[in-house]
Order: sequence, then C-alpha cells, then structure tokens
Amino acid sequence: MKGRVVALVGLEKTEIQEYELPVPEPGAALLKVRRANVCGSDLHIYHHLSVALRDIVMGHEFVAEVETLGDGLTTDSSGAPLAVGDRVVVVYFHTCHRCAACDRGEFSMCFNAIESMALPPDAAPHFHGAFATHFYLSPGQYFYKVPDAITDAEVAGANCGLAQVMFALDKIGLHRGQNVVVQGAGGLGLYAAAVASTSGARVIVVEREPNRIEAAQSFGADDIIDMSVHTTPEERAKQMLDLTNGQGADIVIEVTGRSEAFLEAIEFARIGGSIASVGNLNVGPKFELTIAPAMFTRKQLRVHGYLRYDPWYLRYCLEFIAANRDRFPFESLSDRVYTIDEIDEAIARSESRQVARAAVVPA
Ligand SMILES: [Zn+2]
Ligand SMILES: [Zn+2]
Repeated sequence: MKGRVVALVGLEKTEIQEYELPVPEPGAALLKVRRANVCGSDLHIYHHLSVALRDIVMGHEFVAEVETLGDGLTTDSSGAPLAVGDRVVVVYFHTCHRCAACDRGEFSMCFNAIESMALPPDAAPHFHGAFATHFYLSPGQYFYKVPDAITDAEVAGANCGLAQVMFALDKIGLHRGQNVVVQGAGGLGLYAAAVASTSGARVIVVEREPNRIEAAQSFGADDIIDMSVHTTPEERAKQMLDLTNGQGADIVIEVTGRSEAFLEAIEFARIGGSIASVGNLNVGPKFELTIAPAMFTRKQLRVHGYLRYDPWYLRYCLEFIAANRDRFPFESLSDRVYTIDEIDEAIARSESRQVARAAVVPA
C-alpha cells in the first residue's frame, strides 16, 4: 500500500509524492495523520528561510492515530497502554539521548533534534512530515495518547504552538499576579494568552488585526494594545505604562516573528523584567536591529530564547486542553480544513493572517 506526502521541491514549490508505506521497525510505529496545522515555521520553511530544512516533507504540528505498531512498542511515553487505532500526539523533534545537550537533560536543545525532519522525501522511511497521509514515529520519539474527550481540532496545535509557549512561559518564570505582555495574537499568541491567564497573570495582548484582537479576547486577554490605534512604538510604550501603574511588564513574550517587536519588548518590560524570544527565527541582514547593550544593563533585563521544549510538556498540554476546553475556543484556531492536494491554498490562507491556523486533513 502507498501513502502520500507533501514534498517541498523548491522555493515555494510543493509536490505530492507517493511512497510505499513502511513496516515499522521495533519500537517504531506507523501513524495515520488525522489533522495537521500550517504553523508559522512551515511558512518560514516554504520560503526557504530555513537553511537546514529545504528538501523535506512539510508539516509538523498534528494529531494522528496508530496504524501499525512495531515490535515492543506497547505504551506511550508516559507508560499508558497503546493499541492500534489510539489517537496520539507526537513531539515533532527528536531527543537522541546521545549528545551533550541530552546528556545535560536539556532535551529542547538536542543536537540531533531535526535529524529525521531534515531528510529528503525519497529517503526511507519517507513519512518524515505531517502534511501526509502517514507519519513514521521513530524509536525513542516521545508521544502521548490523546484523551477521548478532546477533539482533533482542539489538540492539533498542541505539539508545536501550545507546548512551545507553555514551556517558554514556565521557564521564564510565569506566576500569578504578574503583568504578561503577549506580542502578536496568531496561534502562539492565543495559546500564550490562555496559558498566562489560567496561571493568574494579567494578560496584555499587542495586536493590529481586528479578527486577531477579537480572538485574543476569547483566549484570556485582559487588555489589548491595538496597534491600529496606537500606531507608534512610543505611543504603545506609553499605553503599556498606563496599563501597569507606570511599571511596565514583568514578562514579555514575543511571538510575532518580527524583529521590530523585539525592540518594543525591551520598552514594554519593567526594570528587572524578562523577555521570552520565541517568534523570531530568521537571520540575515533584513532581520538585524541596532541595539545599545546598555538597554539591557540599565533595565537589568533577562532575555531568553526558546526553541522547542522539554518533551513531557506535550503531556502537560493535553491536561491543559482537557481542563480548559470549555474556557477557551481551541477549535476556533482554524476555520476550515484543506486536503493535502490543497496545500498551497492552505499555506496562502495562513499567510493572509486571517486565521491562526489553516488545518490540513489528508483524506
Ligand atoms: Zn540529543
Ligand atoms: Zn511549528
């Protein structure tokens, strides 16, 4: 039997390719993709802004079900019994347990994290990405069973967007009583607002698009700084001070992917505040800023970048969604589904910023 994948075959050029379905080796599994999302980094990859990820199978944010289990794989990563047909979410990157980062227990920093994602589609076992009918779960790759109560649409964003911001906010020191600024209300921003809000923080979202502002309000934003009203960085910095008793934010999380947002984060943060840099992934002259290091020294800021997460955060995400599915409209992150044949349309829809996530259902 054959399956199909969306291969990136050139700059902004995709192609559907067919491959024989692999028989999973011991400890591995063949999964059937149920629903995948177009995430910001898929767009980044599509535009060849990633050097490491070019000739690949696209897609990494998804929910799937077990189609075939390799020998010896009887439980998920938390020890829950596993059977064919179970729905699962997968930590999309690898933790090799044989590099200096893994040796330190810093699993988000594994040197071999993108080992299989970076493989070209014609390299076995072919199904390295989620924009595909199937996904090959490698031996040792973390994954968790999805509780029956959670729908595919609610959980599809867990293994990238939600886990990413939950990890970043935890590590930067989120706790109740803080003023937390979320820059940008796309998928990551909405998840960040929800996580910060359930932690008892006050959430201030900075955004321009009316549809995104509305979404932010349903994901726990207490206040909005509307960039279409406060059009300059100076006005927005003043607005931030007005909203925080002249203090500024305890935590700023940048999830816009725009370099200028990082400059504003420095302005938004209070003296001694923290900045979590998550959205900015691009390097090169177009993305460079001029910053006086004194900005950090004088304000005594802590700045931390976060890329990927400790794998068990994906389990926390399942608990978070189950506990908050009545409070936040997780399903509203995508408004319609596309087939893998419509992938270019799905990507265009995501780029329009009219929807947080375009969803892809292989069918
Ligand atoms: Zn490693
Ligand atoms: Zn992603």
